[in-house]
Amino acid sequence: MSLKIKKTKTGENKFIWKQIFQMHIRAFRIMNGYCPGMFPLMAVRAVWGALTPYIGIWLSAQLIGELSGARRMEEIRELVLLSLCSAIGIAVVGALLDRWQNVLSSTYWLNGRKLYIDKMRGMDYSLFDEQETKDRYSQINQAQNWSGWGIGRINGQFTNIISAVIRILGAVVLSVGLFTQKIPADYPYAFLNSPLAAVTVIALLLLLTFLAPACSAKGSSYWAQSGEEATFGNRVFTFFGWSAVYERHRKVDQRMYAQFPMIRYYMDQNKSFICGGRMSKMAKGVMGRWHALGGLLPQLFTGIVYLFVCVKAWAGAFGVGDVTQYIGAISALCGGVSSLVQTLGDMRNNAPYLEKCYEYLDLPNPMYQGSLTTEKRADRKYEVEFRNVTFRYPNAKTDSLKNVSVKFRIGERLAVVGQNGSGKTTFIKLLCRLYDPTEGEILLNGIDIRKYKYDDYMKIFSVVFQDFSLLSFPLGENVAAGKTYDAARVRDCLEKAGFGERLAAMPAGLDTYLYKDFKDTGVEVSGGEAQKIALARALYRDAPFIILDEPTAALDPIAEAEIYSHFNDIVGDKTAIYISHRLSSCRFCDEIMVFDGGTIVGQGTHEELLSDENGKYHELWFAQAQYYDKEEEKVG
Ligand code: ADP
Repeated sequence: MSLKIKKTKTGENKFIWKQIFQMHIRAFRIMNGYCPGMFPLMAVRAVWGALTPYIGIWLSAQLIGELSGARRMEEIRELVLLSLCSAIGIAVVGALLDRWQNVLSSTYWLNGRKLYIDKMRGMDYSLFDEQETKDRYSQINQAQNWSGWGIGRINGQFTNIISAVIRILGAVVLSVGLFTQKIPADYPYAFLNSPLAAVTVIALLLLLTFLAPACSAKGSSYWAQSGEEATFGNRVFTFFGWSAVYERHRKVDQRMYAQFPMIRYYMDQNKSFICGGRMSKMAKGVMGRWHALGGLLPQLFTGIVYLFVCVKAWAGAFGVGDVTQYIGAISALCGGVSSLVQTLGDMRNNAPYLEKCYEYLDLPNPMYQGSLTTEKRADRKYEVEFRNVTFRYPNAKTDSLKNVSVKFRIGERLAVVGQNGSGKTTFIKLLCRLYDPTEGEILLNGIDIRKYKYDDYMKIFSVVFQDFSLLSFPLGENVAAGKTYDAARVRDCLEKAGFGERLAAMPAGLDTYLYKDFKDTGVEVSGGEAQKIALARALYRDAPFIILDEPTAALDPIAEAEIYSHFNDIVGDKTAIYISHRLSSCRFCDEIMVFDGGTIVGQGTHEELLSDENGKYHELWFAQAQYYDKEEEKVG
């Protein structure tokens, strides 16, 4: 088996110029919003950079003219001094502008990330969790990392366009004389004075000026069309070169199962960037030829300019000083037009990548946003009802929950039990409104939960999921899920969660960093310790509902049962919901719901459920009991 590129239409360029400009104007507006002040400064820098060479060209022309003409010492001294001072002044102002621009643009790429993070933050979880959404984001990142394609590319294009336009205008002003100054009528080559000769030369120069960058852009378009392959290649390298080797949860398995040769095999399957691969063949073939032509044409251009200017000077139209000015100006004109055409080509190549960015940024949130506030009840007596709830994950073929109807007796201890895959976590995700039901409704105090303000509704739940995660930030901030916190309460929650002793042994206390990603002194907490921190985080949130969704699945059944019942002692008046596929862990609960195949097949106390000999609970209990007995013997 080998790794295959997922076919998308990145390479196709179907955009008309109006769309290309609109897309880039939007990119400009976005980045300008994230980096205020940067673009105006870049504009000033670009204008300065484009205009200043003409001062040198003009002064050199004056100096050479003087040297080859009147040779007045005073004039020459003044011109040399002026040239020196202007060169110094230009360099100093340029350096200051550069420095200022560097400061403002130092966070440019970071801001380019922020815009996507902001989008994610506002995204419904159901959309965020879809594989298609992840693929979209990953494609944007890969195109960005590969060759800077996407929204962030606008900064280079912006500078190039401004400086190209200024260079063109400056060059036109300085080169007008080339066509207006005439060869004396009785001199050879006087026919060059005719408007037809001027138009022919200008047309020839314009043709070469446009053709050269067009050839280069054509070459680059092959590069841009390889986007899929290159980004896929980058993805493979990132995965095998970093994620598969270094990520915390993978690196031990790697060694235990000697997986390196297997990883190497799949990595070598990807031929994107190696000799003989499609891209190297293109560089040697069609892409290389277009680039070579793009490099050759400017030389032809220079030859024609030199010939025309020198012949006119030789025939007496103007002096040696003007030769310098005209050649410098026309070359700058060619450079300006080339840069403009090249940038336009770059914008055209960037359009499909921008489209991908906007498709992602414009993804609409599918969930209805309600406006009711969840009343803050001092007695915490919230009542929740699932009414005929059916749910199917996006793009799934079967329902994960089927016609579930249940009413919670609030303030009590509830359990959700069932085998793996029976729908327990899905039930909790729906309760927390991470997803909306496909059919049916969920009510809080008699009102459909969709009618509540989303953030408000979320605040009534504290959940510790099986795959919870902690951040590589200080312990206290992890527990409080924020930068500022009540240290005494954080300590109390850690204590209650059983982390007290470990906290006492930490020299930096709550300021201790978890893991070593950002601090060498960070601590690598064990799986069990991490669980306790996650439990403390749930306690600190102090929400009316507290839910444990098998965060203890990695522990043995007896340890899990102990943690669950210990936790039960500390949750106070909250409604606690315990989820487990091990029935013994939830035996103490007032109400147990038994899930099987996405439906509730039993509900009651442990004793009630066990007394139904044909029930699922009875079957599971006795199937699992043998195992617990053995564990208990071992412990005993
Ligand atoms: P449990 O918590 O009881 O182990 P889950 O609620 O996690 O079960 O899963 C119930 C069913 O839904 C399973 O068949 C599982 O494969 C499926 N499922 C869970 N998450 C997703 C998802 N994000 N997309 C598609 N199917 C899913």
